[in-house]
Amino acid sequence: MENQSRICSNTSTDAEEEEHSAILQKKYEEVKRNLMKISQEKSKMEEIYKTSRRKRDEENKELVREIKSKNNAVESALLCKICYDKMVHPYTLTCQHTFCAGCLSKLPRNKENNRLCPFCSKPFRLPQTVTEYNYVIEDIKSIFG
Ligand SMILES: [Zn+2]
Ligand SMILES: [Zn+2]
Repeated sequence: MENQSRICSNTSTDAEEEEHSAILQKKYEEVKRNLMKISQEKSKMEEIYKTSRRKRDEENKELVREIKSKNNAVESALLCKICYDKMVHPYTLTCQHTFCAGCLSKLPRNKENNRLCPFCSKPFRLPQTVTEYNYVIEDIKSIFG
């Protein structure tokens, strides 16, 4: 009788353990599935992040190229076409071409006491003392250094 009871009890414990182990196994599988899902989501997010960062880097590089190119264009426009240096006291002639006042004053005068614009050859005369500088060019010069 005692023996019988023990066997019964043992059988019952085994069944319970089996059931418990099955539940654990199921939970383990579920956790594993969830972990895999999370890992896949993580890879997806990382890919999105990498792509957006790459795109942003490319846009930044493009912007830097554009700024440099515009910077070069402005710097070249600020060069005096006589001395090929940055204009000092830029003076705009009636033909609208602009050079350093000093460079213009060094140009030779013709018989009519005129100088010729080195760019378009239009004759011009400089005032006794040049004071009307091109302030727009002076301002741009101060921005671009
Ligand atoms: Zn000059
Ligand atoms: Zn000119």
